[in-house]
Formats: sequence, C-alpha cells, structure tokens
Amino acid sequence: MNMTTDEKARLIELRDKLIGAGCDLPQEGSATRHEATRTWNGARVCKPALVARCGTALQVAAALRAARDVGLPVSVHNGGQDWAGRSLRDGSLVIDLSGMVALSIDSERREATIGGGVTAGQLNKAAGEQGLTAAISNDGAVGMAGLILGGGYGPLMTRIGLACDNLISAEVVLADGEVLICDADSNADLFWAVRGGGGNFGVLTSARVRLHELGPVLAGTIVFPWADVRAALGRFADLMLRAPLELSGAAVLAVGPGGKPVAVISLIWTGDRARGEAIIAGLEAAGTPLLAKVEPMPASELLALTNGKLPQGHGYEVATRWLGTLSPKVTDVMVSAFEARTSPLASIIIHHCHGAVTNIAPDATAFGMREPHFTALIYAAWMPAVGEAGPHRRWARELSNDLAPAALPGGYANLLPDDAAGQIAHAFGGNASRLSSLKTRFDPMGRLRAIPLPSAGVRHGR
Ligand SMILES: Cc1cc2nc3c(=O)[nH]c(=O)nc-3n(C[C@H](O)[C@H](O)[C@H](O)COP(=O)(O)OP(=O)(O)OC[C@H]3O[C@@H](n4cnc5c(N)ncnc54)[C@H](O)[C@@H]3O)c2cc1C
Repeated sequence: MNMTTDEKARLIELRDKLIGAGCDLPQEGSATRHEATRTWNGARVCKPALVARCGTALQVAAALRAARDVGLPVSVHNGGQDWAGRSLRDGSLVIDLSGMVALSIDSERREATIGGGVTAGQLNKAAGEQGLTAAISNDGAVGMAGLILGGGYGPLMTRIGLACDNLISAEVVLADGEVLICDADSNADLFWAVRGGGGNFGVLTSARVRLHELGPVLAGTIVFPWADVRAALGRFADLMLRAPLELSGAAVLAVGPGGKPVAVISLIWTGDRARGEAIIAGLEAAGTPLLAKVEPMPASELLALTNGKLPQGHGYEVATRWLGTLSPKVTDVMVSAFEARTSPLASIIIHHCHGAVTNIAPDATAFGMREPHFTALIYAAWMPAVGEAGPHRRWARELSNDLAPAALPGGYANLLPDDAAGQIAHAFGGNASRLSSLKTRFDPMGRLRAIPLPSAGVRHGR
C-alpha cells in the first residue's frame, strides 16, 4: 500500500496511542498476527492498515477513540468466521478480540460469563464439563459474540432458543468509547439491538449467557443415496413442519466420501427416548439409507457431529434464503442445482426453525424472524489456488435467484452479503425502522460497519 507522508504520520500517531493504551500490535508474520487476522474464507485477501489486539473494554475504547482522532475506519475481528470478511476491512484499524477469552461458569445459576473473544467451541466445552449446555452454533470456531449479535441459529435452538435469546446482559463499548452494561432493565434499547442487529451498535466485550441442563439427547445422521434425495427431503420437510420443540433437524446435499452425491438428514431429539426412536425410524423408511447412526449422547457432544465440516481455507461464496415450505418444486430446484455443482466441495444445508425460537414476539429482539421457517444455506466452495472463482460464485447466486420466487422475504442477516439489498431490506421484518433510529443514536458517525442494516421504514414485500 502506497501511503502519503501525512497518512504515515497519522499511522505513527495511532500506533503510539495504541501502545500507550496497552494494546498489542502484533508483527506482520507472527503467530499472534496470524490469529488476529484469521479468516475462514480462503478467497478473501484482507489488507487492514493496522491490527490492535485488545484485552480489555478500556483498550477497545482507547482504540476506537484513537482511530477516530486520526480519521481511520475500524473493523472488529473476533472468530473470523464471517464469510464476507467484514471483520477485516481493507485500510481499517482492526480491533481484534480473539485474546479476550476469559470464561467462567456459575453452575448453580446456570450462567456463563464470556469474554468478547470466546468461541462457541470454548463455551460448549466449559459448559459441558459442568453437565450444562449453551445455545451455540454448529461450528466451534464461530465467535460467540458474532453469533449472538447476528441472532445465532444452533443445534438445540428449537428447545432453548437462539444464541441471542440466551443473552442475559452484555458489556458494550460504543463507537465513541463509552462503556455500557445493558440488560432487560438498563440500556434496554441497546440490549434489544445487540440481540440480532449485529455489531453495528458497539463492540461486545463481555456477556452473561444462560445455560441449560438437558439429559442425554438422541442424535445422529441418516445418509441416503442420491436416488432417494427427493423422498428424503420430502419426508424431512413433512417431519419438520409438524415437529415439536424436542425435535430439530437439518438436511444436507453434499458429495459423500465415495465421490457420489448424497442426502444427509441429521436429527436431534431431546424428549422421551422411545418416541424419538419411532420418529427417526419413520425418517429412515423414506428410502434405503447407506448409513444410519443415531444414538444417545450428552448435549455437549452434539457439536462434534458438525464441527469442521466446512473447513477454514477453502474459497467460499455463501447465499441464503428463508423458505416457508420445501415443496416438490423447491426441492427440484435444489436437486437440479446440486447436480450442476461447479465443485465437489459445494453443499446445500437446510435447517428448520420452530419451537422455542418462534415462541418469542418478533419485536422482542432485533432478530425479527419468529415464524417457523426453513433456512437454506448455499455454500459454493473451491480450492482457492485452483481455477477461477467466478463459476462457483455464479453457481451460489444463481441458485439463490432461482429459489427467490418461492422464498420468504429477507434472509439470515448474519450471512447476507452487503450487496443483497432486496433481502437486507426485509431481514429484520418490522424492526427495520427501530434499528435505523438506534443506529443513529448509538453510532451517529456510522463508524461500526458489521452485518448490513436496512434503510428505515421498510416493512413489507420481498
Ligand atoms: C463454518 C461456519 C459455521 C457457522 N455456523 C453457524 C451456525 O450454526 N449458526 C449461525 O447462526 N451462524 C453460523 N455461522 C455464521 C456466523 O455466526 C457469523 O458469520 C458470525 O458473524 C461469525 O462471528 P465471528 O466472531 O466468528 O466472525 P468475525 O468475522 O470475527 O465477525 C463477524 C462480524 O461480527 C462483528 N463482531 C464480531 N465480534 C464482535 C464483537 N464482540 N463486537 C462487535 N462486533 C463484533 C465483526 O465486526 C463482523 O462484522 C457459521 C459460519 C461459518 C463460517
């Protein structure tokens, strides 16, 4: 990057202020720098101006103020799992939280206190050691803060809610450096906004989250050959549309270890064992499974079923749609698209949201999608060093476009790209205008840019 003398002087001033505040400025090429700029998507090459590892809320506050004083944009980096690379914006001061991993469990109160950089895997392990479980993601590398801020779907969401529904209180550093604690009683507007509105309102440096005590769960996967894909998806859809909160599930179209496409249905049952076994047997009967492995396990072991299935370092393009049903027409679109995949690494994941998530009013948190729905996640994936990315990216976008006529308005904001204006406009439902006015109140200069927010007042339509 070629810098003017003035820019160089401003960067030196910024460095001095950050060092004075006790932030660590990791050297290019060092292991800490690598961790502080870790990014899941191997196709994103990020060129931040400077990286500051912060260990406390006060250091975060100092970094925000120092960047403002020299006129540099900021990005907040945590687990680095945002596929669009929004935590490492080019030319910005990256405020890295990945070292803020303090974690304590109060098993009597069933609560955890987590630092802003704690990952889903770290929380799951610590809670599991106390016989408890948390609302986490399907991959252990996801930052809990990034997950909570965006909403947070997870393997047990139908039973215990989204990650954001389990937030009790949060310590948040506003863009101007003010440190606030928010919960249901104090700074309640901020508490509302950080439960689904993304990191647009402040930097979450610590959080208290609710934990749950669940007995052993019945969980596992049923792998169907491609010949059974339509029948398996049809049975999965029927099951999900009438599922009680004890049952959650996902369907995955992927290439199996033998190199052939397969349909994988995974189910988690948290109720009475005999009833769960009957439900699972009904699903197996949809075809002739190549493999069916469903067994009792502690809830904290669920993460192992999905962890690392979308490995870091591949090139990725992600698209997502909310769907009310999986009609045969929708299934046909997905099956045909998967047959025309551009890479054996591509996958389509569909999970269903009902139960505890949908028992909450849409205006209770910024995450406004509280109707039962399927979420289709389209993952184009490729080896970044091999060939062009264009065809893979087009594959994901075209499938998303093909699903649009049957889709619900909006989509999961945590995964929408910045240019998906039509979907972003509806991603928060009727919460759009409140989010816009809170953005103006908490970050009037628009310095914190996380997941995209809609413009004020958009409520209806696709
Ligand atoms: C393999 C994989 C599996 C996933 N599984 C799930 C899943 O099961 N459920 C689900 O809902 N989502 C899932 N996601 C999506 C994930 O929740 C989001 O991408 C999330 O934003 C990642 O957070 P992060 O901290 O890891 O990422 P980062 O890239 O570090 O941050 C993501 C965004 O959040 C902001 N941010 C992060 N931490 C803070 C903070 N403390 N304060 C303020 N802003 C912050 C960043 O600035 C950035 O805009 C998955 C993603 C991947 C790649």
